[in-house]
Amino acid sequence: MPDPASGSAGASGTSGAPDVGLDDLYRDILLDHYRSPRNHGQLDERATHGADGSNPLCGDELRVELAVEDGAIADVAIDGRGCSISQASASMMSVYVRERGTDEALRAVETFQQMMVAGETPPEDFADIEALMGVAKFPVRVKCASLAWKTLEQALTSSNGPESAVTTDERSMGDD
Ligand code: ZN
Repeated sequence: MPDPASGSAGASGTSGAPDVGLDDLYRDILLDHYRSPRNHGQLDERATHGADGSNPLCGDELRVELAVEDGAIADVAIDGRGCSISQASASMMSVYVRERGTDEALRAVETFQQMMVAGETPPEDFADIEALMGVAKFPVRVKCASLAWKTLEQALTSSNGPESAVTTDERSMGDD
């Protein structure tokens, strides 16, 4: 199991970055989601949408399954492995999108990216997701944190039903 406190486990080429600089409160929130991921598991035949995401830079993998009913995410399940940031972000994402409209979920993907790339303050309803703010300063870690949201977006926008794939490493996109 990766060392959750370091956030660098599994990252190739990032030795010397043992700490992502999160403050203690945010670190506690993150570790809680990492150790006790919400909505963990599979929806199996109930899944109407799904995607497999990967962040090869760090070795993070994530599957997101959604049960969409009447334009809303009635249920969500996540299953994956990787660093604490990628898995905690997935747990936080799942809590946020559950029982929200798919359009609202897609807007949240954009909002999350703005928070990561432009350092914008997240809206209040992001709640625990705010704990990932500090990650924005570390571009390699941004790919870890973004994996859940990229995979969610892929699941919602793909026409392949529960089977599609996405990566946060742009260089290897298009191979699927
Ligand atoms: Zn990672």
